[in-house]
Amino acid sequence: MTSVECPDLEDLFNALEAGEGSALEHAGQCPLCTAIIEEHRLLEQDLYRLADPLPPPDLVHKVMARVAAEPTPARRELVTGLSILAASVVAGLGLLLFSDAALSGASTSLARLVVDGTALFEALLSGAHALWSTAAGPVAALLSLILFSSLFALKRLAGTGPTPSEA
Ligand SMILES: [Zn+2]
Repeated sequence: MTSVECPDLEDLFNALEAGEGSALEHAGQCPLCTAIIEEHRLLEQDLYRLADPLPPPDLVHKVMARVAAEPTPARRELVTGLSILAASVVAGLGLLLFSDAALSGASTSLARLVVDGTALFEALLSGAHALWSTAAGPVAALLSLILFSSLFALKRLAGTGPTPSEA
């Protein structure tokens, strides 16, 4: 039995603290003393942990990872949906304004409006008609873009909230 040759715990820990000594040399060869030293080391570590009130250095990183993993709040989803909608409208208006055919139709309506101020509704109607007949493609694309953007935003919003019915 090697334990017969083992030094006193006091000698062992003194040697451990000093970092040298026959007791430490013995511990390097003795599994029992190695186990005692390891147990002592773990206990000391736990005590340091209890005494240290500071958070671990990677706490902020862990929190940020946790926040990133959380589902996006509904409010941000709404903002995203509205942004898509606004961008669609702006893009659609830009498309219509820079389309020559659409522009000429709008100019005709504007000219009519200036000549006869009472024919506002008619001018708007004919303007819309001119727009539709000359730029049906862009207008249809714009309308469907707005529609799908709204549906997409609403679907994402509905997905984050509680579902009223599965049917
Ligand atoms: Zn020993």
